Amino acid sequence: MDKKAMKPSNGIFKREEGLSGLSPKERKAMEAYCADYMGFLGKAKTERRAYAESVALLERNGFRPLDSFKTLKTGDRFYRGYHGKTLLAAIVGKRSPAMGVDVVGGHTDAPRIDLKPVPLTEKGGLAYFDTHYYGGIKKYQWLVRPLALYGVVCKPDGTRIDIAIGDDPVDPIFMITDILPHLGQEQAKKALSEAIPGESLDLLIASEPCPKASDDKDVKEKVKLNVLRMLGEKYGITEEDLVSAELEIVPAGMPREMGFDRSMIAGYGHDDRICAYAGLRALIDQGDVPERTAVVIMCDKEEIGSVGATGMDSSFFENSIAELLFRYDAKGYSDIVTRRALEASRMLSADVTNASDPLFSDLDAPNNTAILNAGGCFNKYTGSRGKSGANDARAEFLASLRGVFAKHKVAWQIGELGKVDKGGGGTIALFMSRFGMDVVDLGTPLLNMHAPCEVAAKFDAYMTYRAYWAFFKG
Ligand code: MN
Ligand code: MN
Repeated sequence: MDKKAMKPSNGIFKREEGLSGLSPKERKAMEAYCADYMGFLGKAKTERRAYAESVALLERNGFRPLDSFKTLKTGDRFYRGYHGKTLLAAIVGKRSPAMGVDVVGGHTDAPRIDLKPVPLTEKGGLAYFDTHYYGGIKKYQWLVRPLALYGVVCKPDGTRIDIAIGDDPVDPIFMITDILPHLGQEQAKKALSEAIPGESLDLLIASEPCPKASDDKDVKEKVKLNVLRMLGEKYGITEEDLVSAELEIVPAGMPREMGFDRSMIAGYGHDDRICAYAGLRALIDQGDVPERTAVVIMCDKEEIGSVGATGMDSSFFENSIAELLFRYDAKGYSDIVTRRALEASRMLSADVTNASDPLFSDLDAPNNTAILNAGGCFNKYTGSRGKSGANDARAEFLASLRGVFAKHKVAWQIGELGKVDKGGGGTIALFMSRFGMDVVDLGTPLLNMHAPCEVAAKFDAYMTYRAYWAFFKG
């Protein structure tokens, strides 16, 4: 039997073309790409900041807001933002977008801890922000680590105050504290899922009483008052202003290279900025105008079910395609043209997946779990309990993508999110498949997904980008 025709048994089809197979030139390109990505990730600590960074990058590369185009023609580069959180960018292809578009869609929100609408409290002479976590987190992972505070505070007069505290080396950081081991015996007996209740995730923010009120017996919460005094002086924020705020607690610190060999990147928010950024760069780096219109989505709210106006379960994508078609051919535009275009579209749902962790390998689906350094990973389906809630991609679509990746020498792998019945998950694939288009998940495998610090291999980050680039190129 021809050795080349034999399929490796571990589900990795291109690993022999992996890291060691990279030419010096490709390795240089990989390092340059990963350095760019780490720069982006360090600045994109929230979905709003990911949006702002992405818009800046698009503008530097000749993309303009859709509203500035009265008409669109082949080669035009535009973007359309929504509420400063969800972003769509595209290059109009050589063929009419009415024949369908190629989409790479990822999300820029990440698991985190949000402030409650009335967050400021004082307990036992310490001031705290009361919180409500966002997305699937293992709560204990967020204790006793330096945390930063990012977000916006909006006032009725229309002013918006941007907050970013904790990542500038001169900034203070914040923390959620934990019991010392000496007194932690009862806690240690509890199940991990119960040891840290969500309601106990309070952020310690201050300890000094307000100097002006130190002798005033009528003032009960002097530390809280001091925080309000400082917020007022520095930002002009009142306690009521915190009601109309979006303040997010995220890990402090920048992404770092990891390992003696520097082959990995550790950082907060790989899920899913690593894929969203890869899509964005794949679009920007297209070079020649692609045959089909190339579209990138960087959406919000994936981690809580793609809900809301900025999530993919909204009309944003559909409306954006309608705007594109109308500007491309106002005379030929109609509802049925839009529906046909949506149905004829194709999509890579760009979201991360689980990488096999040899320390927890009993969770791996045999032969069907992604590994580090083997490229971006297809998930033909996600879901749980018998593929429930999955978009199960069509074999014909996967086959066509295999052809594209072989043509462009892209390393890839395919896997599931762990053993059957062990759990599961979902992505935006489901919401996009509603339009009748072909969708399949393809993203970067991660170690400790959803942890405050996630790990990806540089090779996989780079190959994910290459996969998206090749998809657009065709
Ligand atoms: Mn994700
Ligand atoms: Mn996620």
